[in-house]
Amino acid sequence: MINSIKNFLNQRTGLLIRIDDVAENMNWSLMDKCEALFDQYNIKPLLGVIPLNADKALYAYEKNNNFWNKVREWQKKGWEISMHGLSHVYDMDTNKKDYFNYGGRSEFFGHDYQIQFSRIKKGLEKFKEEKINIRSFFAPNHTYDKTTFVALNELGVKHVIDGYGLIPYTENNINFFPQLFYKEIMLPFGAQSTQVHLNYWEKGDYNNFKNFILKNNNKIINFDKCIEMINNNFLSKVINFSTEVAIKGIRIFR
Ligand SMILES: [Zn+2]
Repeated sequence: MINSIKNFLNQRTGLLIRIDDVAENMNWSLMDKCEALFDQYNIKPLLGVIPLNADKALYAYEKNNNFWNKVREWQKKGWEISMHGLSHVYDMDTNKKDYFNYGGRSEFFGHDYQIQFSRIKKGLEKFKEEKINIRSFFAPNHTYDKTTFVALNELGVKHVIDGYGLIPYTENNINFFPQLFYKEIMLPFGAQSTQVHLNYWEKGDYNNFKNFILKNNNKIINFDKCIEMINNNFLSKVINFSTEVAIKGIRIFR
């Protein structure tokens, strides 16, 4: 039994590099450094691109007037472009009632279906206009409700880069790819996604990230590989449920 669990997890072990808050205004010098690093080690990250950014916190960074060309270049290199909200502006409180109980403010949670649907549709239209293929989504601040998933389904987006667990799984007709930690952590088994906020990096953070990449390079996977790891059997459910309980437990005691 233990050996079969070990084998099952060994076949589903890897780390997807998810970069958050990719927008016209961002820390381009760090983004360029990361791009060179990824190219050097043949890493294909997933980029959370904000299609119509209106988040004033990001306006503090330099604007790239060639942004959408850059996104098309990344896509051509085999990097996965994911939709990260629409404008990245929060206008709703979750009061911790959001789907993953993260709490905090939200761009999607709590809005009625029409608003959520039209926000997602507007973002998808922008990507289409810019000739970018989108098959995944993750909401700013990890905040969703069930209506978000109904709207995503209706618009043909089947993958969400968030969730608890060690194995990518399906719920509400959406495939979820677990994202557990704020810092880059490589677990000995299971599939995970990072959340890299390079706009908020402080001195030394790039070097820490680079060392993490060098150390774990052989375990870094692309998004297609993550999709192959989706599993909804009984063992996956037990593993994911136990992880969720453990992670929420850690959060309570933190
Ligand atoms: Zn964000």
